[in-house]
Amino acid sequence: MDAQTVEAQARNAGVRLVRFLYCDNGGAIRGKATHVNHLAERIHSGIGLTVAMQAMNMLDQLQDIPGMGAVGEIRLIPDPATFTLLPYAPHSATLLCDMVRLDHEPWAACPRSFLKRVLARAEDMGIRVLATFENEFMLARRRADGSAEPFDESLCFSSVGMANAAGVIDEIVLALEQQGISVEQYYPELGHGQQEMPLSPAWGVRAADQQVLFRETARGVAARYGLVASLAPKPFPDQAGNGCHIHFSLWDLSQQRNLLYEASDRFGLSETAYHFMGGVLSHLPALVALTCPSFNSYRRLKPRMWSSAYTCWGPDNREGAIRVPSLFWGSESNSANLELKSSDPSSNPYLALGGLIAAGLDGIARRASPGEATHVDPDTLSAEERERRGIRRLPTSLGEALGELERDEVLLDALGEPLSRAYLTVKRSEWEAFRQQDVAFELKHHFEKF
Ligand code: GLU
Ligand code: MG
Repeated sequence: MDAQTVEAQARNAGVRLVRFLYCDNGGAIRGKATHVNHLAERIHSGIGLTVAMQAMNMLDQLQDIPGMGAVGEIRLIPDPATFTLLPYAPHSATLLCDMVRLDHEPWAACPRSFLKRVLARAEDMGIRVLATFENEFMLARRRADGSAEPFDESLCFSSVGMANAAGVIDEIVLALEQQGISVEQYYPELGHGQQEMPLSPAWGVRAADQQVLFRETARGVAARYGLVASLAPKPFPDQAGNGCHIHFSLWDLSQQRNLLYEASDRFGLSETAYHFMGGVLSHLPALVALTCPSFNSYRRLKPRMWSSAYTCWGPDNREGAIRVPSLFWGSESNSANLELKSSDPSSNPYLALGGLIAAGLDGIARRASPGEATHVDPDTLSAEERERRGIRRLPTSLGEALGELERDEVLLDALGEPLSRAYLTVKRSEWEAFRQQDVAFELKHHFEKF
């Protein structure tokens, strides 16, 4: 879609404000809106943004990062292909943006541009990535005192839960469809008020764009029902966590052949799949700093929570960091995919997906091995047995994960400067801020951020 078509569509639909959105280092989706009267020129020249916003943490505390202070501006330049009307907000539309320097070059601190760089490297290796983020979220109600409670107490996959949430869920599905996003399944999940809605996979950047639009939509529609859709990793400490597992497959450049599939293999996986898994598992303790990136993430990432806590993989193993899902009957080759369970909805999806691919590509380049398949809950193995199999416990705190990322040359190199430094500084500041506070503070400041 070109700029003129976007403007015509916005005018025809009676749009007044068009939100130019991006996702920042703290995982928050932020942006500015232009009035439709200025849309044409804004699509061309963008909306100005202070460079400091990539130094802002999720508590709106500005960090001291060279080149990201009071002086200097970048432009939020929208990708016209992302234009969508917002069914849950009156007379509103959105465009997802790249951060571009005033000399028209991509800003090296831009997360969406980072993902594009990693995808270009994959293309150089003959690989296109098809992916989707599988969100779990909690529908909650605010009490008069401002605290929140799950909106129901229905059971896992229960039809009572479906009935309770029918109105709001129907409107979320419809709103997603109106934005060109298809839903694959829906069900109430284990936790009170918890819902799950896997989306159809999309190619490359679109997969992460879809995740931004999903978060916007779930929150936006829930608000119309007087509810909060919390995408915090663990909104209620005594309930199941919200995962956001990343399902992905690797295809040849014609997008016809699934490079993960090999019919003759016991698990239907190709050599490429094993090497990719090997790369992801070896980088995972650092990668979780991107895929499970909030203080609250580590309340979820624990053994026996089906969220994964160890660097292992296995067929339909829901305690494995990488689950190899069983294939669809009749479309084995097309359905072969891998699921990263060590991922939650507080991530910046561009950084999470880009980091995942960078780790996997490194595995392909090194012909890395993922080790043997794990067919049991890894937490039930003895520490010696885990060590023999090369299975590591994932970091137990954001601070630990950041330490791993600081030592991971492959991921740091993929992120590049100044993105890696800005990200680490922002996330360190969140770790320092939250570790000095209590659980109530943590929950309050994660509940509605994502
Ligand atoms: N709620 C679990 C998580 O935190 C996932 C449960 C499942 O879908 O297997 O990741
Ligand atoms: Mg689930």
